[in-house]
Amino acid sequence: MAVGAEPDRGVRLLRRVLAGVPTGEDPLTHVAELPERAAAAVDWPAWADERVVAAFRGCGVDRPWSHQVEAASHAHAGRSVVLATGTASGKSLAYQLPVLTALAADPKATALYLSPTKALGADQLRALRGLGVDDVRPAAFDGDTPLVERDWVRAHSRWVFTNPDMLHRGVLPAHERWAMFFRRLRYVVVDECHSYRGVFGSHVALLLRRLRRVCRRYGSDPVFVLASATVSDPATSASRLSGVDCVAVTEDGSPRGARTVALWEPPLLDAVTGENGAPVRRSAGAEAARILADMVIEGARTLAFVRSRLGAELTALGAKRILADVAADLPDRVAAYRAGFLPEERRELEHALADGRLLGVASTNALELGVDIAGLDAVVVAGFPGTLASFWQQAGRAGRAGDGSLVVFVARDDPLDTYLVHHPKAVLDKPVEATVTDPGNPYVLAPQLVCAAAELPLTPDCLPDFGGAAAERVLADLTAEGTLRRRPNGWYWTQRDRPHGAVDIRGTGGDQIAVVETDSGRMLGTVNPGSACATVHPGAVYLHQGHSYVVDDLDLDAGLAMVHAETPDWSTSPRELVDITILHTQSAVEHQAPGGGTVTVCLGDVAVTSQVVAYLRKLPTGEVLDQIPLDLPENTLTTKAVWYTVSEDLLVGKGPHRAGLKRSQLPGALHAAEHAAIGLLPLFATCDRWDIGGVSTALHPDTGHPTVFVHDAHPGGAGFADRGHAALRPWLHATRHAIAACDCREGCPSCVQSPKCGNGNDPLDKHAAIAVLTTVLATLPS
Ligand SMILES: [Zn+2]
Ligand SMILES: [Zn+2]
Repeated sequence: MAVGAEPDRGVRLLRRVLAGVPTGEDPLTHVAELPERAAAAVDWPAWADERVVAAFRGCGVDRPWSHQVEAASHAHAGRSVVLATGTASGKSLAYQLPVLTALAADPKATALYLSPTKALGADQLRALRGLGVDDVRPAAFDGDTPLVERDWVRAHSRWVFTNPDMLHRGVLPAHERWAMFFRRLRYVVVDECHSYRGVFGSHVALLLRRLRRVCRRYGSDPVFVLASATVSDPATSASRLSGVDCVAVTEDGSPRGARTVALWEPPLLDAVTGENGAPVRRSAGAEAARILADMVIEGARTLAFVRSRLGAELTALGAKRILADVAADLPDRVAAYRAGFLPEERRELEHALADGRLLGVASTNALELGVDIAGLDAVVVAGFPGTLASFWQQAGRAGRAGDGSLVVFVARDDPLDTYLVHHPKAVLDKPVEATVTDPGNPYVLAPQLVCAAAELPLTPDCLPDFGGAAAERVLADLTAEGTLRRRPNGWYWTQRDRPHGAVDIRGTGGDQIAVVETDSGRMLGTVNPGSACATVHPGAVYLHQGHSYVVDDLDLDAGLAMVHAETPDWSTSPRELVDITILHTQSAVEHQAPGGGTVTVCLGDVAVTSQVVAYLRKLPTGEVLDQIPLDLPENTLTTKAVWYTVSEDLLVGKGPHRAGLKRSQLPGALHAAEHAAIGLLPLFATCDRWDIGGVSTALHPDTGHPTVFVHDAHPGGAGFADRGHAALRPWLHATRHAIAACDCREGCPSCVQSPKCGNGNDPLDKHAAIAVLTTVLATLPS
């Protein structure tokens, strides 16, 4: 242990935070002590190139950790591998060692590195250059690479750093110009691979299959090395993403200091009520500001993660305000990390935090990727970041070997956050969720197959890699509509222009709606066409990089939303009419209740029709000012859904295994059960509640029964409904617990109210929802 190290520092810091809690409040729901983990350092493997080892030694790595060598040795032996270990466990070395060894052994060999963000790629490239391996000539090839440099990179770089977007639009369509590079390609590194999830992940999975097909054309078969946060079953996720079988390395051999993890629920506010009179909690951001200020006073270097950019600014500002009353110089030691920082600005902030000039930084998840900040004294996570993998990545910024540190998770007023602070095992003991992708999604498959055909004609022997029968069906449609041409030996793209530019691998299909400032003509951003009516309708308050705008006009035909800068006192939320139709039932399983009656669980394709008909203006306290009608067209989404029906006799009947409800309670019961289920699904699938939606009804025309649907919010689905279907029982069990554990009387944002409800959270019946879920769970086999 280092001199002056303080293993109990986490406990001491927590005591300091608790000392500042007003009397009568009891926000702490759980404290866990995570023990120190000892280092497992091993010798350099015999196969490693001496010069490469010397370069690492020169950078201060005397001996590698066990997981680095284990993963590197798989890769060296030609086995594709995924390394899934914690933040700051040195995953880079695990791929650098085999790649650099291969490039040293064969002076013509090449390698490709892919990262989800340019910032991470730039960090990794800088780290590699720091090793002084000059003959490799590592270089970036992304949207920022000047055109004059691109030829040089293609001709001379042996390790190209790029991202999926550039691989898709810039490299694969021009593969002939990269022929030498592909012929000699030995390794493909896919960094932060857990961030390829949902629709984006499905696109990247098919993109990697396109990459492998092009490599085969040039006679190479590269080994894949994937780096991931800790997720459950990384081998399956990585194999699904890359299309090649991957071995997983998960045993982390890097040392880690002891950590104190505190779960924290802000108190209900006395004076304020929200929608339909519901109680409201103090905001997680305000609570985080206070904790951040306490840590700064203690001299503890602290990072606070806040969900939104605006929230991060407000948290930093709140902490500064508190600190100004303590000492005049303290506010300057707190900063907000803003999106859009230049690389130099980011590095300056990292250095200031590392050397203690800055003590507190409030950030959005932007810091989650790539920025080299670790070994902090404390981390505050204000609002669950969406997945356990992200949570542990954020928490992993705290703690040095030999030193204690503090992690505080502050719950937002939301069912998932509430569930987690009351079920510490779900945070501390549960394996992290699996990364969900669905490469079979026809909405993703069709444009990807078109791009593949434009790169090289698709032959029948390519199809197994693209989903076999599913690909054949999509190709038949593409041929029938004239997009591709069928010839005896395969499918051809015969048009002059390449299709790649029109395929947005991060979007969900369809033309994006541009958000434009009327006065300046400046484009602020884009929104998906499917959600435009709900997010940029006339009168909507639109937030962009911490600035507030109000929408003047939405022109769906022109793909434009015109806005002006304004900071009103209120926020807006849309009111929507939603209808759901079952198109195809893929699976339906009926379960008999002990005393008669049934629960049926289904998975299939649905059409969700929605129309935004009005919006509410709300004050920050949750108080509703008014409701303003809108005249906007209907929008139809064809997607995947999981649903369950409960025969009415089970819900209204009395007796054992019966819910004993009144018929008039059913709409509120099912609606509340639907909301809470949407809130809890992210615990089982790597999705955000905004990636999914739901519909519930006391009598659905297609099922003839009371029915609750939860559907993917992306055309064709993104795999989330499938995960919900596979984990239905634990998911509904957690849903029931989340509702039952909430202190409120009639339902609140922490249990059954939803921020995205199109019905104004009405009707909702919290207690009846518990009864419905109890009955359903009693009927489902355990
Ligand atoms: Zn509640
Ligand atoms: Zn609702």
